[in-house]
Amino acid sequence: MKSEDFTAEELSQVTNPQPVQQPVQQSIQPTNPLAEMSKETTNDDIDGNYWPIDDLPSKFKLYPEGTKIFARPLKVLEVKMLSSLNNDNFHHVITEVLKKCVRGINIDKLLVSDKLFIIFWLRANTYKESGYTVDFDCNVCNTESSYVFEIDNLDIIDIKDDYDPDGIIKLSQSGDEIRTRQLTIKEENNVKNFITRNKRSAAVYDEDILTIANLIESVNNKKMSLMDMYEYIINMNPIDFGKVETYLNHYDMGISPIMNVTCKNCGGMADVAVSFRPEFFVPKASLN
Ligand SMILES: [Zn+2]
Repeated sequence: MKSEDFTAEELSQVTNPQPVQQPVQQSIQPTNPLAEMSKETTNDDIDGNYWPIDDLPSKFKLYPEGTKIFARPLKVLEVKMLSSLNNDNFHHVITEVLKKCVRGINIDKLLVSDKLFIIFWLRANTYKESGYTVDFDCNVCNTESSYVFEIDNLDIIDIKDDYDPDGIIKLSQSGDEIRTRQLTIKEENNVKNFITRNKRSAAVYDEDILTIANLIESVNNKKMSLMDMYEYIINMNPIDFGKVETYLNHYDMGISPIMNVTCKNCGGMADVAVSFRPEFFVPKASLN
């Protein structure tokens, strides 16, 4: 399996969110050691090496007021776990690492849109010299090339100013009123669990539609099971469906699955899929 596969899947939440050209708003560097922890933190000893994360794609707007999130650099066992990432263990490994390194929030309640940002933050603060060389096929000069990855290459898609978590989409054809949600890490797992549970059933489910069903909070203020929501969607008028899809894409946030890098061969700006590779977390060290 190609190493890009699982992260490409992980990153594209609905269909293909368009990369948004925005400068990285925060250089991902810790500023001050932390003195306080929020009350959500109950487990583990705090070893004093935690730093506040000042910015997130969600801008903390969707968490309880006053939420502060802290994290510490990765330790050897966590780096080892991350370097074993594959398609099957991706969710489990990322969640376990976040549980160990992040304080101030119950990881189940962390938004999926903030999750990968924090993983990059952990990486950036574990290896201070964050740049590393990655091979890729350049789509500008069509050669096998390489680029130096920098955290600033990432396109961070921030929450839009006019995003309203209680916003309603009024559908023109059915007249239904839809409310959507930003998934938490716990809710993200709904689709996988559903597929596992239904493995033996004869019914075939479209995973993209299931993903969209998972993103819908309610229809006419009524909540539904994932299966009922799936049935609702596949029976929608396509015009209404298009509206829901457009809305979800418009208000998507997180890290763009595509980043722009400078090709070493031609010097051109090339589009590359964001990916985690084992060497991302265990860069080759210089012995000098
Ligand atoms: Zn090139």
